[in-house]
Amino acid sequence: MTAEPASSELAGLVAAADELFHDLRLGAVRRWKESTDGLAIGYMPIYVPQELFHAQGALSVGILGGGDQVEIIRGDAYYQSYICHIPRSTIELGLNGSLDCLDGMIFPAICDVIRNLSGMWKLQFPDKLIRYLDVPQNFDAEIGGRFYRHELESLAAELESHGAPAYDAERLRESIATYNELRRRVRDLYELRRRQPWKVPTHELYLMLRATLVQPVEDSLVLLDRYRAAVEADDQRRPMDQARVLLTGSFCEQPPLGLIKTLEHSGCYIVDDDFIQIHRWIEDDISTDGDPLQNLVDAFIEDSVASPVRYIGEETKGADLVARVEKSGAEGVIFCAASFCDPALLDQPMIVAAAEAAGIPWTAFKFAENNGQFQVIREQAGTFSDSIKLWSGA
Ligand code: SF4
Repeated sequence: MTAEPASSELAGLVAAADELFHDLRLGAVRRWKESTDGLAIGYMPIYVPQELFHAQGALSVGILGGGDQVEIIRGDAYYQSYICHIPRSTIELGLNGSLDCLDGMIFPAICDVIRNLSGMWKLQFPDKLIRYLDVPQNFDAEIGGRFYRHELESLAAELESHGAPAYDAERLRESIATYNELRRRVRDLYELRRRQPWKVPTHELYLMLRATLVQPVEDSLVLLDRYRAAVEADDQRRPMDQARVLLTGSFCEQPPLGLIKTLEHSGCYIVDDDFIQIHRWIEDDISTDGDPLQNLVDAFIEDSVASPVRYIGEETKGADLVARVEKSGAEGVIFCAASFCDPALLDQPMIVAAAEAAGIPWTAFKFAENNGQFQVIREQAGTFSDSIKLWSGA
């Protein structure tokens, strides 16, 4: 079992993040808009150049569907039955007014479903800034790099045409430095969880990361600092005999919070995952020297994670997962992908093959963001955890 928050500071932080998580009408964004002149621009997972929005005074707002909280009334009419759930709940949120505080939506190139969703959004909300952000799949600086720079310049101009301040290199440099701080804090929390997963339960870390999606980055820095200080100060949480697992496949549609808790309660310490990948998409700091726009481009071209939605050229699918298992000290892998998620499920056989070749135990199941029953998953994950403890020799 995962320990509950022990100190009032920790409990307060978790409760505040939980409130933001459950607020599908984005009260925090509405309050931000009341106190600033900035644009609030939503984005679908998993990567957008947040630094550019920040530099032009806009708040980037991560939209990850409606989870298990929204009843789909009209969303199902927009999609056939055999696709994932996140686009249905997202369009439902758009149509029921939950997202009306957003001045625009960016749909990064993830998959055909998201491309279609961007088209629907354009038809439904013609007065807003709606953009399909075509990120490069060619990682040659002269080809993909030039293309992406053009995309970013065009995005900056479009923000300006919707009322944002004009692009300014110095402001972007400062924004890159600020987001470097955020990435650093997230990396550090992931590192702390690797070392002491009993101190940083994943359902809590997940709530902290979800909170960072709907508030200014400056507030997120404070939140993550306070959370880290609170868990480090807490002496109530003790290590338990749980299996260390790496959870992969949940980079876009998110499992319900109850499912994450179920995995932890079933005897698994999640020591690495694919949640809220935007803060880890660029793996290191982005340079603040020279031309900051080019630095954003170079970071995307040279330092992006190996994601199922990114072409990885000559590299071997699954090699990154094996490296992550080694780095995290995971004893097994749980493939936890959304039902009908093509990018995750098409990659899975190759990644499984890599895991098996490396002798890494694995198990797999699928979910939908609105699943409400976890008993079967609890038994499967519990059995997996037990088998690791009994037979892996780890
Ligand atoms: S869950 Fe998978 S298939 Fe669905 S929108 Fe996301 S990446 Fe595309």
